[in-house]
Amino acid sequence: MNNRQLFSQHLGQTSEFPLSIEIDHAQGLYMYESGGKSYMDLISGIGVSSVGHRHPVVIAAIQEQTDKYLHLMVYGEFVEAPQVQLAKSLVDTLPSHLNNVFLVNSGSEATEGALKLAKRYTGKTKIVSCSNAYHGSTSGALSVCGDESLKQPFRPLLPETYRVRFGKQADLEIIDKDTAAVIIEPVQGEAGVRLADQAYFEALRKKCDEVGCLLIYDEVQCGVGRTGKFWAFEHYGVEPDILLTAKGVGGGMPIGAFISSKDIMHKLTHDPILGHISTFGGHPVSAAAANATVRFLSSSGLIDQAEAKGQLFKSLLVHPKIKEVRGKGLMLAMELESFDYLKKVIDHLIEIGYLTDWFLFCDNSMRIAPPLIIEEADIRKACQAILETLDQID
Ligand code: PMP
Repeated sequence: MNNRQLFSQHLGQTSEFPLSIEIDHAQGLYMYESGGKSYMDLISGIGVSSVGHRHPVVIAAIQEQTDKYLHLMVYGEFVEAPQVQLAKSLVDTLPSHLNNVFLVNSGSEATEGALKLAKRYTGKTKIVSCSNAYHGSTSGALSVCGDESLKQPFRPLLPETYRVRFGKQADLEIIDKDTAAVIIEPVQGEAGVRLADQAYFEALRKKCDEVGCLLIYDEVQCGVGRTGKFWAFEHYGVEPDILLTAKGVGGGMPIGAFISSKDIMHKLTHDPILGHISTFGGHPVSAAAANATVRFLSSSGLIDQAEAKGQLFKSLLVHPKIKEVRGKGLMLAMELESFDYLKKVIDHLIEIGYLTDWFLFCDNSMRIAPPLIIEEADIRKACQAILETLDQID
């Protein structure tokens, strides 16, 4: 059996119709099949490859770490240099109260840890989340997911989870003295890149403070430079109590984190002891890659360029069949008439060597989230391919 046959026979898959492309190697903005066909990556493995594929600083950090050690001990027992260096690099990008980093392996795990932490710290159980939000696939994370069709088959999930419309101040009254936390994406990803205004986040922060609940920002998708600031919440100047990161932070390696003040974090880790345990959390090789990624992004100027690059996409993607291009920085959604049409466009783009897709909860919009290293000439090339595709496909 060839790999494609083995894939369909023996590998658990995410969807009924996987893309089934077999990549031989990837570098920078491109992925290559063994026969030589290339794909310009316009989605970064869903917001992961922000520094591009196999960035030299990431590869060097991985190689250096593999020469020293892989796994030594369960997370948080030994002093492992890549983990503490990464924690410091992350803390350096954040407001001073966000000074304690719990490393995990993924976005879903970051959500799980944050929900447990909020419950422990507040002694309450009610969690408020947003419509069309995505926070992960594990049971706790699924409980705060904003789409009923994903949740329904797996009920019962966590009790006392409530959904509000994203960005609507009127809905904030559901946040009350029984609430442990509100979890929200500063820029919603799987909803199809949705933004809320500053007044909304200010009102949300005020309400959380009034009732004594924690505000959790899920920056798993929108963080680490994607929107043109290191953290998307910087656009609004409204700070969270707990911040989640994963995806792009690892530079292509699996890692995630939930970050809070040391005072808040102690409620989970010291009271009770062993409140949260992970064997592989912050794996040294992933942590080394993430530290290199964070340091590189903090100093490279790429984040500052993301807004102008996003604007270039917006200015070039003008066509009668495009309803809207929305988003911030290089986290964009291009809206077309229908899913059926979008599907044809995406299939054609893949055929001619451009990889895009749609969103979990917004199936008339195309995801455009390329590596931040994309350059002006690449953007022009990609937009031309998209516009020609729209001309050709009915
Ligand atoms: N939160 C957000 C905002 C996400 O976009 C995702 C993944 N799409 C997750 C959490 C879950 O991350 P993971 O798939 O790494 O568990």
